[in-house]
This record gives sequence, C-alpha cells and structure tokens, in this order.
Amino acid sequence: MKLSYEQEVQSRKTFAIISHPDAGKTTLTEKLLYFGGAIREAGTVKGRKNSKHAMSDWMEIEKQRGISVTSSVMEFQYKDFHVNILDTPGHEDFSEDTYRTLTAADSATMLIDVAKGVEAQTIKLFKVCSMRGIPIFTFINKLDRQGKDPFELMEELEDVLGIRSYPMNWPIGMGQDFRAVYDRHQKRLELYNHNEPSKITIIEVTGCDDPLIDEVINDESLVNQFREEMELLDVAGDQFEIELINTGKLTPIFFGSAISNFGVQTFLDHFLKMAPSPTARKSTEGIVNPLDQNFSGFIFKIQANMNPAHRDRIAFLRITSGIYKKGMNVNHVRIGKPLRLAQPTQFLAQSRNAVEEAYAGDIIGLFDPGTFRIGDTLVENGSFEFEEMPHFSPEHFCVISVKDALKHKSYEKGLRQLTEEGAIQLFQTYQKVVEQQIVGVVGVLQFEVLEHRLKAEYKVDIRLERLPFSYARWVSGDKKDLDAFIRTQRNLAKDRDDRLVVLFENDYQMRTAQDKYPNIKFYENSFIK
Ligand code: GDP
Repeated sequence: MKLSYEQEVQSRKTFAIISHPDAGKTTLTEKLLYFGGAIREAGTVKGRKNSKHAMSDWMEIEKQRGISVTSSVMEFQYKDFHVNILDTPGHEDFSEDTYRTLTAADSATMLIDVAKGVEAQTIKLFKVCSMRGIPIFTFINKLDRQGKDPFELMEELEDVLGIRSYPMNWPIGMGQDFRAVYDRHQKRLELYNHNEPSKITIIEVTGCDDPLIDEVINDESLVNQFREEMELLDVAGDQFEIELINTGKLTPIFFGSAISNFGVQTFLDHFLKMAPSPTARKSTEGIVNPLDQNFSGFIFKIQANMNPAHRDRIAFLRITSGIYKKGMNVNHVRIGKPLRLAQPTQFLAQSRNAVEEAYAGDIIGLFDPGTFRIGDTLVENGSFEFEEMPHFSPEHFCVISVKDALKHKSYEKGLRQLTEEGAIQLFQTYQKVVEQQIVGVVGVLQFEVLEHRLKAEYKVDIRLERLPFSYARWVSGDKKDLDAFIRTQRNLAKDRDDRLVVLFENDYQMRTAQDKYPNIKFYENSFIK
C-alpha cells in the first residue's frame, strides 16, 4: 500500500546510539539490524576497533574509513517503521564527527554497561544530546553479568548526567542469578533462560503480587527483593510522563543483555513507539516543519574518500523536510547557486545503494568534489539556512607549521579544506608577537589523519608540536569584563570565525578562571547564546 507523504515521514525514526567503548554498541546494533531483517545473522557488523591504527598504516585507516562510510548510517524497515541508525564513531576515531552526527538525530539511545555505569564518553555525548533537548532512551546492558544495583545506576544517571529516569522494566536477579525482567506497563515477565538466552518465555501476570511470579521464579529471596524494589519504585520513583521524556528530562530505562538478544526486541518495540518522528528544525526564516513538502536538508558530516585515487568526498545530508527525488535541482544556499543532486547514495545496512526517493528524517550521501562545508543548507525552493553547526571543544592541541615555507600555499589550502570537512579545528594565537596556528582535535587519531592527508593530497610535510591543553572554552561577556579578562590570560586564541577562545590545561585551571571571572561566560561549544 502506498503511504501518504505524511505517513512516510511519520514512520521515520532517526536516532543515534551513544555509549562508552565496550558497552556493547556493536552488539546491540547487530541485533537491531537483525530484527529489521537487514542482516541475516548477527555478527556481521564490522567493528572498526579491531584493527589498531599505526602511523604508517594510512591505507588501513582508509579501509577503516571505508567501512565507516557504509556504517555511518544504517537504514532498515521494522514493522511499520522506517529506522535510521546513525553511527557515532567511538574508540580511536572518536572525533568531532561523533558530536556532529548527533545533530542529525531526533533521539538517542544511551547504552550503559551494568557493571561500569555512566562512563566518560557517555557523559560527553549525553551533553551534546541534552544541549538539543532530544529524548534519550537508556538500555542497561550485560545483565547476564553481575553489575551495579539498579537503584545505584538510576542515582548515577541523576547525579552525573542530571537526568531522572523511569524503569520500563525491572530485573529479577542479575549475573548468575539473572532470572527475568518484569515489564511494568504490560505486566508481564520475560524469563531468561541461561542455556538458551534468546529463547524468551513470556508470562502474563496480573501485577507484581501475582503468585504466579513466586511459582515461575521459584526463589523466595529474589522474589521478595523484587517486590520490595517495585514498591519503592512505585512510591518514591518518578512517574511516567511522556512530556518529560520528549524534552529529554526523563529517560525510560530498559534492562537486558544485547549479546544474548535478551530484552532487545522489547526495547525496540517500546522505543519505536515512543521515539519522535522527524522533528522541526530552526532556520533563518523560522521553523521548518518536516511535513512541509519543500525539500530541505543540511550537511552534518563530510567523509573523505578512502581510495587515494579518488579525491572525492561524501557529504552526509539529513533531510529536514520534503522528498528527495533523483536528479532534482536544489539551491546551495551558502554559495547561492543551483545544484543538481545527481547520484546520491543511501545507506542500507551493509552497502551503499543509489537512492531514488528519500523523505524527511532520512540521510543521503552526496558526492562532494569540494562543494560542501559542514552546516551547509540545501533547499528546493527558497534560501533559508539552518542553524550553524556548533564546534565542540577539542581535547588535544598542537602548534602546526609547514616544513617547507615554499609550500605555504598548498599548506594553507589543505588546512582550509580539512577544517571545512570538520576533521580539525584551527585556531590562531591571540597575543603572541609571532602568530602561531594551533590545531585542535577531539580524538588524537585526527593528528595522524591530518599529517597523512596533507602529505598524500597536498604534498606538504608539517611539524606538529603538542601543547599541554585539554579544553577550549569560547568566552563572552561585557566589553569591560572581557578586556580585564584578556589582559590577565595567557592562553587565548581566536577560532576560524574570530571568536575568542581560552585554552586550559586541566579542570582545576578552568574552574579557577571561572570562579575568578564570574561575569565571563564560558562555553563548551561555539554556540554562544
Ligand atoms: P562496543 O565497543 O560498544 O561496540 O561494544 P561491543 O558490542 O563490541 O561489545 C564489547 C564486548 O562486550 C564484547 O566482547 C561483547 O561480546 C561484550 N558484550 C556485548 N553485549 C554483552 C552482553 O549483553 N553481555 C555480556 N556478558 N557481554 C556483552
């Protein structure tokens, strides 16, 4: 049956999975793809982390990039939903791309290892999501292993991330004693079978007092504990409020074990029902509604070609409204020129397919001979632009210079290109007598990529000298306060758009400055409000 435009858009769910390395993102993704029929057996999504990058291993990195092109977006159909999962690179290739990808998502799944709780990378990614106020759904993984107490995890979510939580289901036992999860809404038990975990038995009950629970669990102490915990949750826990979930203030929690495929489908079913369809986006001419049939979208990621013989790149476009149709003409707003979208690709789970038609919420890949920059808007009719894509604080910094001064032109060109791609951020020292260029990156692998690409594509050798900084903060304030601040700070820089940035070596240094200058505002990203 042909769906109406509105039905097409509303069936779309575009989300990212955020987690710390090793929490089980690859495993969970595989299971989701498996349910979507996108892969025949779990175990076929390639983990990029399996190969350690060495300096000389550029081809290897490129091969890896190749894999990440196809797995940057995974698209599949599940029941009535058209699902787009955005990959957020982790491990060594954690970079600003990871953050920017989140701007293309309408919601996020936060995956947490039950034994480890909230970890560093999760915190960073969570902050980017919460900046946009998108709904966040939590999957607590590895219940087949002993981990932290579920209440302790809920407290951690609140203390570390500042988000309240509502368990959708609750585990009975854990690790060796893991017996079941109890679905609070559907009032049913999903029994865990240690010998055959993916074989889930579902038992409908009348509530947590149902004697059937005693019978099937057959462990008095576990059942008593379960009932006490449920009572505590009902009395002292948060209520289920969809409004709070939609604004990212309350996260529904699901417990399960990705590797055993336990709790994954339940999660997927609930998640897809609750997660938002494509959301409206702000533009220079007001809100753009996804149901508006005028095609529009923005570039959130640019991926260099993995094949050195081809210099082209792929620009990833998130469609914000309307329908993409093969060969359509659009306005490239920043350069003010029409553009024909000839052969975009769409990303099915394992391969790149030519796309004939795509709707608001979908991601398409555009061949990019150097026409696009991160944040560019394409629109069928009109000339509005979407909000500027923020830059996020790098965590590693180097002074960069060209070895051969005669190559200065190519060097500048290469740096500009890589900055536009978003692979690196470039800063200029503020007060030094001799101006220096500073490169900042979120993931340290980007330095290697920078060095290799400048050499391979621009024939330029560079010198990189590490600086001891770990944070960049964009600052703003009244002129008087700002002048006083500038006079006393040594480590100031300007970003590409001449915005003032201060660099700090550590948290302590940063907090001292914040305490000393209460009238100065410090921002973790370039979205200075
Ligand atoms: P990623 O780094 O987040 O993509 O994590 P992976 O999916 O590669 O998983 C990291 C490790 O955790 C692997 O050894 C997985 O087999 C393991 N793992 C994933 N899910 C589970 C789970 O539910 N239970 C257990 N015990 N191990 C798991």
